[in-house]
Amino acid sequence: MTSPINSALPSNTKVVAIPAFNDNYIWCIHNNKDAVVVDPGDATPVLNYLKKNELNLVGVLITHHHHDHTGGILKLASANTSLVVYGPSGGHIKGITHPLINGDTATFPTMNIELSVIDVPGHTLDHIAYCGHNVLFCGDTLFSAGCGRLFEGTPEQMLHSLNKLAALPDHTIVYCTHEYTAANVVFALAVEPDNQALNNYSKWVSETRSNNIPTLPTTISEQKAINPFLRAHKPSVKVSAEAYTNQKLNSDVAVFTEVRRWKDSF
Ligand code: ZN
Ligand code: FE
Repeated sequence: MTSPINSALPSNTKVVAIPAFNDNYIWCIHNNKDAVVVDPGDATPVLNYLKKNELNLVGVLITHHHHDHTGGILKLASANTSLVVYGPSGGHIKGITHPLINGDTATFPTMNIELSVIDVPGHTLDHIAYCGHNVLFCGDTLFSAGCGRLFEGTPEQMLHSLNKLAALPDHTIVYCTHEYTAANVVFALAVEPDNQALNNYSKWVSETRSNNIPTLPTTISEQKAINPFLRAHKPSVKVSAEAYTNQKLNSDVAVFTEVRRWKDSF
């Protein structure tokens, strides 16, 4: 039985956040029987969650090599020798059993799930994202109201990667790895103080975080409305970036570069 990548997740399947470290979410896709986790930086909270909910871990998805996304792989694999671990190719991440490149598919047949792989270099050069069934797991590429730091890639690469994500259907549900939203919104408001959608979102984020509820997932349409890193082509963002750097910026890449630089020192 196949599960078309363009249809919603199977109706018995949900995605839940397993909190880890200070501000990571290890997303767990499960159907009350089998489970897949995304970027398990720490095995302990995953094993606790699986045990408590009587779930059988069938797979792992890895987006990039950083330790807070990969640190739990070997322990999870040692508890289950048939575990399928998808992740970037290159052999640099220990424990990956199924290396992937752009256009490949990660499949979990017992769960009727298949996700396509998109190359999204920028935060790191090996960064990949997984999308399908109207959901996106984007690791540290796109955050709510922000994007990952450029540790390895260029601004051009990151903007190109973010544009690929922005081109996904508006209703795509976006699962980012970090709860950075509140701080990101403060910066986004510095860039676009008059963005009404952003001002509304900011109020919602304050309430949500004061109740200790995750602000994630988000959606592509929401991010296109509020995220300055998806809005480098907007006049309001260009004007702010030019004021910040005190020079004319003649391309979206130039605007994006300055907004990213501004955030790094914000
Ligand atoms: Zn990272
Ligand atoms: Fe991270």
